[in-house]
Amino acid sequence: MRVVISLDELRLERRKLHPPIGLVPTMGYLHEGHLSLVRQARRECKSVVVSIFVNPTQFGPQEDLKKYPRDLERDIKLLEPEGVDVVWTPGNEVMYPGGYQTWVTVEEVTQGLEGAMRPGHFRGVATVVAKLFNAVQPQRAYFGQKDAQQSVVIRQMARDLDFPVEIIVCPTVREADGLAMSSRNVYLSPTERNSALVLSQALFRAREAFDAGTHDADQLRQLVMDTLASEPAVKVQYVSCAQADTLQELHGAVERAVLSLAATIGRTRLIDNIFL
Ligand code: AMP
Repeated sequence: MRVVISLDELRLERRKLHPPIGLVPTMGYLHEGHLSLVRQARRECKSVVVSIFVNPTQFGPQEDLKKYPRDLERDIKLLEPEGVDVVWTPGNEVMYPGGYQTWVTVEEVTQGLEGAMRPGHFRGVATVVAKLFNAVQPQRAYFGQKDAQQSVVIRQMARDLDFPVEIIVCPTVREADGLAMSSRNVYLSPTERNSALVLSQALFRAREAFDAGTHDADQLRQLVMDTLASEPAVKVQYVSCAQADTLQELHGAVERAVLSLAATIGRTRLIDNIFL
């Protein structure tokens, strides 16, 4: 496993790799969710590249860029046994050298949900992922269902800008008690960690209701809200029941949907979703 920093080094290593190349973009502080993407890439591709870059342009001015958890040494130790070929850890000076001024803006699918709560977030995400795709030129790129809107945005961008890459979305990995794994979970105090359980519980409860015949989108949203309301420490930002591929909000009876939510617990913002 080679660990490279500069674009020149990355390109040099890239030339030695056999296709298909699978790229797993991450912001580091790796957990089993990230590793599940790496493992799927390892199974499906001849070569695997993992990028680790805490992308400053996808954080709002009031967000947690400064305190975002980082531990490169630990990340490299976690990746070593996974059969990764190249780990690319560019710094800000590699990705955004002085005078940088080009941005990728995906329009409709970035309007709602995370895009509405985090202005500019998806401009940063789309831009950095476009740059990662250009540098690594993977045939496949692996993303987590955990960030449902992100995968919709990346798919749209890849289609619109003719990136010859297949976008693969992998299931959300959860802790044994249901909490979706996230690098941000380390921010939670033990009490907050306990309160955070209500997020997945609310989604699971709605799925049970759906499976038992409740297919009305408004009722499903309300069910999630009601469960979340049982935990006063949880401040809800949105609950959505939307079409999975367009993220258009749904009303009335639905056969398929993605139920998603965002909430803060103390100073930590968490998101989660499930497919119905
Ligand atoms: P991040 O480092 O948070 O930017 O995440 C890097 C990639 O890992 C993204 O495609 C995420 O959607 C994915 N990911 C994060 N958490 C999970 C999880 N719990 N299960 C599956 N994928 C995840």
